[in-house]
Amino acid sequence: MTGLPNRALLLDRLTQTLARAEREQQPSAVLFLDLDRFKAINDSLGHAVGDELLRQAAERLRTAIRKEDTVARIGGDEFVILMAEIGDAENAAGIASKVLAALRVPFVIEEHELSVSASCGIAISPADGTEAPVLLQRADTALYQCKADGGGGYRLFDRDIDRRAHARLQLEQGLRRAIELGEFLLHYQAQIDLASGTVTGAEALVRWQHPEGRLVPPGEFIPLAENMGYIGAIGEWVLREACTEALRWPPALRVSVNVSARQLTQLDFTATAREILEETGLPPGRLEIEITESALMSDPARAIATLEEMQELGIQIAMDDFGTGYSSLGQLKRLPLQRLKIDKSFVQDVPEDPNEVVIVEAILGLARQLKRSVVAEGVETESQLAFLRERGCDEAQGYLIAKPVPAAEFRALLSGSTMPLLK
Ligand code: C2E
Ligand code: MG
Ligand code: MG
Repeated sequence: MTGLPNRALLLDRLTQTLARAEREQQPSAVLFLDLDRFKAINDSLGHAVGDELLRQAAERLRTAIRKEDTVARIGGDEFVILMAEIGDAENAAGIASKVLAALRVPFVIEEHELSVSASCGIAISPADGTEAPVLLQRADTALYQCKADGGGGYRLFDRDIDRRAHARLQLEQGLRRAIELGEFLLHYQAQIDLASGTVTGAEALVRWQHPEGRLVPPGEFIPLAENMGYIGAIGEWVLREACTEALRWPPALRVSVNVSARQLTQLDFTATAREILEETGLPPGRLEIEITESALMSDPARAIATLEEMQELGIQIAMDDFGTGYSSLGQLKRLPLQRLKIDKSFVQDVPEDPNEVVIVEAILGLARQLKRSVVAEGVETESQLAFLRERGCDEAQGYLIAKPVPAAEFRALLSGSTMPLLK
């Protein structure tokens, strides 16, 4: 249709060009181009207009390059320009902007004037590869990166980005296997009552026991699990495991489980929780779920409805990382919450930093008015602890009191053999 070479012919020419370039020790460049929003034009104005746009775009590309260069069409709206003896990457980038500028001039097709932009990924041989398919693939990767950043420009292939993309892919595959094989475990971090110094319960914190030996922290895989749609499976396992473990503790102790926004709004979380409580026999009042302010953002009505169902079941609810997100104080009053957890970023600088002191005091005052109890997170020093106790904070959690530890270690700690419980 455009009269341009296709992918097969392109690969053929690319192979020849690379062979010659190697002999003559001259860098070559591959520019991978893609029209932005072509599909929208095709869908709204019809295929005839779409085809004509591609023909005109092809013509502009042909005139923008040197005679000895090749332009090929290798997919719907994907074009590749192959340039030998490019000099250096800067030259290639210069040509890319020239080509992109040529495409930005509005196209006139039938009665339409169409403004189209394009994105371009660039790979240079020999730096980015010396084999045709590899080079093409890397230009494509650069294009993908360019699009991910909003498109409309060009981008040179970057090995670091490629490495990161590769690492992420490996993490994804690993996570898939971790779910199948159950490679997760929970650590428990004690929470204490500040007035009496006794343990009130523990927060369950998930870890991934990677087969290569590393204990992967949740920050590295929970967001990925959410994106991949795995958070439901992981969350259900965490809940069941935590409830089962809590039954081995003295009956006054509570277990807190983190629940992410996705879990709360997208899955039938209440049904799962009810089922797990029945199955394990844990009294609902001993279970607390920790939600974050962000959990209420995407679909507040749904999230609040779920929280109310949880409350009816008798489950306790805590607001985690309080103060770091979007806190609607009006909403806070209506939420069925028992506890606020002051984020460790505020606790960290008390009592030295007067600003943080004011924030912590304000949260404590607010909680008192709303009749919510307060847990301070991330308590690491005696002076922080003393400050919090003096200001009437109810509970505390942090490295000073206990680090998150495996289940058996937490039980040992409860039996008093390893931790001098703070008075
Ligand atoms: P979070 O709920 O705010 O948990 C507290 C984090 O602070 C934990 O990190 C804990 O190890 C750490 N921490 C505790 N005491 C101290 C301290 O004194 N100083 C400092 N600097 N840090 C302290 P971790 O275990 O890496 O967990 C990170 C986050 O991952 C959690 O933040 C929570 O949002 C999420 N997460 C953990 N487990 C789960 C889970 O089962 N499900 C979901 N959805 N999220 C989880
Ligand atoms: Mg938490
Ligand atoms: Mg927190």
